[in-house]
Amino acid sequence: MNRVVRWLSVCAAVFLTILLIGLNLSTSAQGDVTPMTATPRPSPTNNGGNARWTINAMTFQSNYPKGFDFSLDVTSTGGKIVEAGIVWQHTPSVRRRGRPVIDPSGKITASWHPGIDDAVPQWVGIDYWWTLKDEAGNVFETPHQYEEYADNTRKWHRAESEDVLVFWEDGLPDQIGPAVLEAMKKNRPIYFNAWGKLLNYRPRVIVYATDKPWSEWNPGSGTSAPGGVRTVGQTSSNWGGTVQLYIKQGGPDGLAYGTVLHEVDHLYQYFNGGVFSSECWFFEGDASYFEIYTDYDYLARVQDMAASGELPTLQNGGPSCRGSSARDAYDIGYSFWKWVEETYGSDAHRKIWGLVAQGKTPIQAIESVTGETFPEAETEFRSWLGMSNPVPPTAPPTQVFQFPPTPTYEGQ
Ligand SMILES: [Zn+2]
Repeated sequence: MNRVVRWLSVCAAVFLTILLIGLNLSTSAQGDVTPMTATPRPSPTNNGGNARWTINAMTFQSNYPKGFDFSLDVTSTGGKIVEAGIVWQHTPSVRRRGRPVIDPSGKITASWHPGIDDAVPQWVGIDYWWTLKDEAGNVFETPHQYEEYADNTRKWHRAESEDVLVFWEDGLPDQIGPAVLEAMKKNRPIYFNAWGKLLNYRPRVIVYATDKPWSEWNPGSGTSAPGGVRTVGQTSSNWGGTVQLYIKQGGPDGLAYGTVLHEVDHLYQYFNGGVFSSECWFFEGDASYFEIYTDYDYLARVQDMAASGELPTLQNGGPSCRGSSARDAYDIGYSFWKWVEETYGSDAHRKIWGLVAQGKTPIQAIESVTGETFPEAETEFRSWLGMSNPVPPTAPPTQVFQFPPTPTYEGQ
């Protein structure tokens, strides 16, 4: 069967040290889906000890793709500044620190240069502040300031709402921004009901016309590999967004209602507690379940597989999310979530993920919510798909899936 797959976006994740910082973003009454994602971390008050602190200048400069610089001109009535720290974050869960230099005149500077492991795309948000100590031992934390890692080397367009920020290269359709804003707004109550809360930050969607602005911060990205394998996107909870090469095929609506809704669901998965290195069908099927625009009917394809008797089992990790049959994991996973919804109700998603958030594996969570062993649940799922002999085969353990990255496939 050849009606498979054209594009498959990568869902790469690089975990850095995660520092949770006591933000209480629990959503209130059921049905209240006002986003709380735009709330900046409050600036400190009542600090500075016995001294009076004066900030003469607090500046930021993006040198994209080579990093960014911070500088501070500050005085304290407690004497010279003897210690300085700089802290910034792209999302509330990850904090980064620099090593400031205090020059003899008292001017304080810090620079960040991207490395292989910590590079971030253009247009990530930067919420930053300084921590200081003067000669008398007074400590002071500056107000928090918001900046962006602007790419001033080419022309961009931008749109934002309560739900999302979108940046797209000049030359791409103008409709990209409004389409993404609308898709994210429409899907807000769906994410809310499925996850029980909204993200505690506004995700960013960065859309490229070519692979150049991608590979310049993440070398090797977007290039074609032998066999028509091509990566067209990358998503990370560390910098809180997704970058995507624009694919003409689906147009702005395909990007907005397909890719973006899928990738943002991965951000919800991380926000829920993380993504495992196995059971990729569970994660990719889940993200696919949030797509409104699809290239083809995933469920119909899986029903065809079931009817032909050639439906890969989900036991032992399930089908691979890589290689020429990668779409199997996505489509069967998608169908599994559809079965869960139809059989156990619309709140089953939240229940299963709630258990995953508590540390259960996906399989344990499914067994708990369905009240069945996983092979029993899978048998029912395969029967629901119309398979005449639904008992899954006992397969030998398959290769364990690992993030990152999943490549993208171009159909023949
Ligand atoms: Zn995905």
